Amino acid sequence: MRQEFAKGLIYTHARLSENTKTTLEAAAFLYGLIELLTEKGLLTIEELDERKHEVSKRLVIKNRINEVGVLLQEPEYDKYSFKDEAIIDCEKRIHLCKAGCCRLPFALSKQDIREGVLHWDLGRPYIISQDKKGYCIHLQRGSFRCMVREYRAVPCRAYDCRKDNTIWLDFEKKIINPEILRDDWPHCVPFQDERS
Ligand code: SF4
Ligand code: SF4
Repeated sequence: MRQEFAKGLIYTHARLSENTKTTLEAAAFLYGLIELLTEKGLLTIEELDERKHEVSKRLVIKNRINEVGVLLQEPEYDKYSFKDEAIIDCEKRIHLCKAGCCRLPFALSKQDIREGVLHWDLGRPYIISQDKKGYCIHLQRGSFRCMVREYRAVPCRAYDCRKDNTIWLDFEKKIINPEILRDDWPHCVPFQDERS
Protein backbone atom coordinates (compact mmCIF):
# COMPACT_ATOMS: atom_id res chain seq x y z
CA MET A 1 0.00 0.00 0.00
CA ARG A 2 2.83 2.36 0.91
CA GLN A 3 4.45 1.73 -2.47
CA GLU A 4 1.16 2.44 -4.24
CA PHE A 5 0.87 5.79 -2.39
CA ALA A 6 4.47 6.67 -3.22
CA LYS A 7 3.81 5.90 -6.89
CA GLY A 8 0.68 8.03 -6.72
CA LEU A 9 2.57 10.98 -5.23
CA ILE A 10 5.36 10.74 -7.79
CA TYR A 11 2.81 10.63 -10.59
CA THR A 12 0.92 13.65 -9.17
CA HIS A 13 4.07 15.72 -8.67
CA ALA A 14 5.42 14.90 -12.12
CA ARG A 15 2.12 15.89 -13.69
CA LEU A 16 1.98 19.09 -11.63
CA SER A 17 5.50 20.17 -12.64
CA GLU A 18 4.85 19.43 -16.30
CA ASN A 19 1.50 21.23 -16.25
CA THR A 20 2.96 24.26 -14.45
CA LYS A 21 5.75 24.57 -17.01
CA THR A 22 3.34 24.34 -19.92
CA THR A 23 0.91 26.81 -18.31
CA LEU A 24 3.67 29.37 -17.72
CA GLU A 25 4.85 29.13 -21.32
CA ALA A 26 1.31 29.51 -22.66
CA ALA A 27 0.60 32.45 -20.32
CA ALA A 28 3.79 34.29 -21.38
CA PHE A 29 2.90 33.82 -25.02
CA LEU A 30 -0.67 34.94 -24.51
CA TYR A 31 0.11 38.03 -22.42
CA GLY A 32 2.72 39.06 -24.99
CA LEU A 33 0.17 38.73 -27.76
CA ILE A 34 -2.50 40.69 -25.86
CA GLU A 35 -0.07 43.52 -25.10
CA LEU A 36 0.90 43.77 -28.76
CA LEU A 37 -2.68 43.76 -29.98
CA THR A 38 -3.86 46.40 -27.46
CA GLU A 39 -0.82 48.62 -28.19
CA LYS A 40 -1.68 48.48 -31.88
CA GLY A 41 -5.32 49.39 -31.11
CA LEU A 42 -6.64 46.07 -32.48
CA LEU A 43 -8.18 44.90 -29.23
CA THR A 44 -9.79 46.35 -26.07
CA ILE A 45 -9.71 44.70 -22.66
CA GLU A 46 -13.54 44.67 -22.52
CA GLU A 47 -13.78 42.75 -25.80
CA LEU A 48 -11.14 40.35 -24.60
CA ASP A 49 -12.95 39.69 -21.28
CA GLU A 50 -16.21 39.00 -23.04
CA ARG A 51 -14.64 36.56 -25.51
CA LYS A 52 -12.61 34.87 -22.77
CA HIS A 53 -15.79 34.12 -20.87
CA GLU A 54 -17.41 32.48 -23.92
CA VAL A 55 -14.35 30.44 -24.83
CA SER A 56 -13.79 29.17 -21.29
CA LYS A 57 -17.36 27.84 -21.19
CA ARG A 58 -16.70 25.91 -24.42
CA LEU A 59 -13.42 24.53 -23.12
CA VAL A 60 -14.93 23.28 -19.87
CA ILE A 61 -17.35 21.19 -21.88
CA LYS A 62 -14.82 20.04 -24.44
CA ASN A 63 -12.04 19.02 -22.09
CA ARG A 64 -14.26 17.75 -19.31
CA ILE A 65 -12.03 19.56 -16.87
CA ASN A 66 -13.17 17.52 -13.87
CA GLU A 67 -11.55 14.39 -15.26
CA VAL A 68 -8.15 15.73 -16.28
CA GLY A 69 -5.43 13.18 -15.52
CA VAL A 70 -7.92 10.46 -14.80
CA LEU A 71 -8.80 7.55 -17.04
CA LEU A 72 -12.34 6.27 -16.93
CA GLN A 73 -14.18 3.87 -19.16
CA GLU A 74 -15.84 5.65 -21.98
CA PRO A 75 -18.52 5.14 -23.09
CA GLU A 76 -19.86 3.66 -19.88
CA TYR A 77 -22.33 0.76 -19.88
CA ASP A 78 -24.19 -0.87 -17.05
CA LYS A 79 -22.13 -4.03 -16.69
CA TYR A 80 -25.03 -6.04 -15.28
CA SER A 81 -27.18 -5.49 -18.33
CA PHE A 82 -24.34 -5.60 -20.83
CA LYS A 83 -25.41 -7.86 -23.69
CA ASP A 84 -22.38 -8.16 -25.97
CA GLU A 85 -20.28 -10.59 -23.96
CA ALA A 86 -17.68 -12.46 -25.95
CA ILE A 87 -18.23 -16.25 -25.75
CA ILE A 88 -14.89 -18.03 -25.90
CA ASP A 89 -13.85 -21.58 -24.98
CA CYS A 90 -11.39 -20.38 -22.34
CA GLU A 91 -11.30 -23.74 -20.55
CA LYS A 92 -9.76 -25.41 -23.61
CA ARG A 93 -7.20 -22.67 -24.13
CA ILE A 94 -6.15 -21.47 -20.72
CA HIS A 95 -3.15 -23.85 -20.62
CA LEU A 96 -1.85 -22.02 -23.71
CA CYS A 97 -2.87 -18.43 -23.16
CA LYS A 98 -2.40 -18.43 -19.35
CA ALA A 99 -5.13 -15.79 -19.20
CA GLY A 100 -3.04 -13.33 -21.14
CA CYS A 101 -6.17 -11.20 -21.49
CA CYS A 102 -5.95 -10.44 -17.77
CA ARG A 103 -2.61 -8.70 -18.34
CA LEU A 104 -4.16 -6.07 -20.56
CA PRO A 105 -4.74 -2.83 -18.64
CA PHE A 106 -8.06 -1.04 -18.88
CA ALA A 107 -9.87 1.75 -17.10
CA LEU A 108 -12.69 1.10 -14.66
CA SER A 109 -16.09 2.72 -14.97
CA LYS A 110 -17.77 4.97 -12.42
CA GLN A 111 -20.03 2.02 -11.67
CA ASP A 112 -17.00 -0.17 -10.83
CA ILE A 113 -15.50 2.55 -8.66
CA ARG A 114 -18.69 3.20 -6.71
CA GLU A 115 -19.19 -0.52 -6.22
CA GLY A 116 -15.71 -0.77 -4.69
CA VAL A 117 -15.01 -4.42 -5.51
CA LEU A 118 -12.50 -3.99 -8.33
CA HIS A 119 -9.22 -2.48 -7.22
CA TRP A 120 -7.61 0.28 -9.22
CA ASP A 121 -4.00 1.39 -9.34
CA LEU A 122 -3.60 4.29 -6.91
CA GLY A 123 -0.68 5.51 -9.04
CA ARG A 124 -2.79 5.60 -12.21
CA PRO A 125 -6.42 6.25 -11.43
CA TYR A 126 -8.64 4.40 -12.51
CA ILE A 127 -6.65 1.69 -14.30
CA ILE A 128 -7.22 -1.82 -12.98
CA SER A 129 -4.67 -2.78 -10.35
CA GLN A 130 -2.03 -5.20 -11.57
CA ASP A 131 0.68 -7.19 -9.91
CA LYS A 132 4.38 -6.88 -10.73
CA LYS A 133 4.02 -9.16 -13.74
CA GLY A 134 1.17 -7.13 -15.11
CA TYR A 135 -1.60 -9.57 -14.17
CA CYS A 136 -4.85 -8.17 -12.83
CA ILE A 137 -4.78 -8.59 -9.09
CA HIS A 138 -8.16 -10.30 -9.21
CA LEU A 139 -6.75 -13.20 -11.17
CA GLN A 140 -6.02 -16.29 -9.12
CA ARG A 141 -2.54 -17.23 -10.22
CA GLY A 142 -2.04 -20.93 -10.82
CA SER A 143 -5.66 -21.67 -11.72
CA PHE A 144 -5.96 -18.49 -13.83
CA ARG A 145 -9.49 -17.92 -12.57
CA CYS A 146 -11.11 -14.55 -12.11
CA MET A 147 -11.94 -14.17 -8.43
CA VAL A 148 -14.47 -11.42 -9.09
CA ARG A 149 -16.20 -12.90 -12.10
CA GLU A 150 -19.65 -11.69 -11.08
CA TYR A 151 -18.36 -8.12 -10.72
CA ARG A 152 -15.87 -8.01 -13.57
CA ALA A 153 -15.79 -4.84 -15.62
CA VAL A 154 -17.33 -4.31 -19.04
CA PRO A 155 -13.97 -4.56 -20.86
CA CYS A 156 -13.48 -8.02 -19.32
CA ARG A 157 -16.93 -9.04 -20.50
CA ALA A 158 -16.62 -7.57 -23.98
CA TYR A 159 -13.04 -8.49 -24.75
CA ASP A 160 -12.69 -10.88 -27.67
CA CYS A 161 -9.22 -12.39 -27.84
CA ARG A 162 -10.02 -14.09 -31.16
CA LYS A 163 -9.47 -10.80 -32.91
CA ASP A 164 -6.40 -9.78 -30.98
CA ASN A 165 -2.97 -10.85 -32.19
CA THR A 166 -1.50 -9.53 -28.95
CA ILE A 167 -2.79 -12.87 -27.62
CA TRP A 168 -3.20 -15.23 -30.57
CA LEU A 169 -1.09 -15.30 -33.70
CA ASP A 170 -3.71 -17.74 -34.97
CA PHE A 171 -6.76 -18.33 -32.80
CA GLU A 172 -8.15 -21.29 -34.78
CA LYS A 173 -4.82 -23.11 -34.84
CA LYS A 174 -4.24 -22.22 -31.17
CA ILE A 175 -0.95 -20.48 -31.84
CA ILE A 176 -0.25 -18.14 -28.97
CA ASN A 177 1.77 -14.96 -29.34
CA PRO A 178 4.82 -15.78 -27.18
CA GLU A 179 5.24 -12.11 -26.28
CA ILE A 180 2.17 -12.11 -24.03
CA LEU A 181 3.70 -14.90 -21.92
CA ARG A 182 6.95 -13.11 -21.28
CA ASP A 183 7.54 -11.98 -17.69
CA ASP A 184 8.56 -8.55 -18.89
CA TRP A 185 5.67 -8.14 -21.31
CA PRO A 186 4.93 -4.43 -21.44
CA HIS A 187 1.73 -3.82 -19.59
CA CYS A 188 1.71 -0.09 -19.08
CA VAL A 189 -0.26 0.96 -22.13
CA PRO A 190 -3.92 1.81 -21.41
CA PHE A 191 -6.04 -0.60 -23.35
CA GLN A 192 -9.45 0.89 -22.88
CA ASP A 193 -10.57 1.39 -26.49
CA GLU A 194 -9.90 -2.12 -27.68
CA ARG A 195 -11.73 -3.71 -24.78
CA SER A 196 -14.74 -1.44 -24.57
S1 SF4 B 1 -6.92 -14.99 -23.63
FE1 SF4 B 1 -8.86 -15.61 -24.58
S2 SF4 B 1 -8.96 -17.81 -24.30
FE2 SF4 B 1 -7.43 -17.03 -22.90
S3 SF4 B 1 -8.56 -16.71 -20.98
FE3 SF4 B 1 -8.53 -14.77 -22.10
S4 SF4 B 1 -10.44 -14.77 -23.24
FE4 SF4 B 1 -10.06 -16.88 -22.62
S1 SF4 C 1 -11.38 -8.63 -13.35
FE1 SF4 C 1 -11.23 -10.81 -13.77
S2 SF4 C 1 -11.58 -11.04 -15.96
FE2 SF4 C 1 -11.11 -8.88 -15.56
S3 SF4 C 1 -8.91 -8.69 -15.89
FE3 SF4 C 1 -9.23 -9.08 -13.71
S4 SF4 C 1 -9.07 -11.29 -13.47
FE4 SF4 C 1 -9.35 -10.87 -15.66
